[in-house]
Amino acid sequence: MPLSSRRSSLEPPTRVEFTLAEFIRTIQQHGYDARWSKALICPNNDPYQPDHHRLSCDFCDQTGYLYVDPIELKVHVTSFSTRQIFMTEGRYNPGTAYFTTLPEHKISFWDKIELLSAEARFTQVMPRGTNPYKTKYPVIELFSALTSENVVIDPATITIDGDGFLVLPAWTGDFVSFSYTYRPVYIIQDLLHQVRDSRITDSGVDVEATFPHQAMGRLDFLVRDESAD
Ligand SMILES: [Zn+2]
Repeated sequence: MPLSSRRSSLEPPTRVEFTLAEFIRTIQQHGYDARWSKALICPNNDPYQPDHHRLSCDFCDQTGYLYVDPIELKVHVTSFSTRQIFMTEGRYNPGTAYFTTLPEHKISFWDKIELLSAEARFTQVMPRGTNPYKTKYPVIELFSALTSENVVIDPATITIDGDGFLVLPAWTGDFVSFSYTYRPVYIIQDLLHQVRDSRITDSGVDVEATFPHQAMGRLDFLVRDESAD
């Protein structure tokens, strides 16, 4: 272990330096491609009445948050495997994942992380409208489309347009239900290490180091009030 070679065996063991270097290398080598957007409270929230929000808001679709300054980056994601879930938390919250970002990427509460190389499945019902049907998420692959008259629309007859929205052939009924794959989107719900500065020894000099940030995110459709969509 080269990092410990300059220490006397009488010094208390510390792996801080190793941990920081290891974190950063892990994020860069094994991180997921992601888009991180910062949360901004919608200006239609009334600061004097925290629960009050304009009923029909064109800014934020009633979610109360806007997302600004999107940055593409690597994030390390844990909890995709059961073993890691039990190691990190001891219990499992459905739809959650843990994200670690480089020290300069200061993720915070209500921020949004979209995983650009991961796929998950989603299902939603949409009322009759006009083409294209703007699904909640851009569609990667469509598996099923079933109308409220219990008629299957063959997915082969449905086109996915350049924005990932669906162009349907003629159909009857008031609603249609879709099942498709999409890129998962998480909203940050908790920070495990918001402030992670530490004193470390760098080439014999005591310096301050900022550590990667780790946050817990939850799938956005589990966080948001879906009735507002
Ligand atoms: Zn708003």
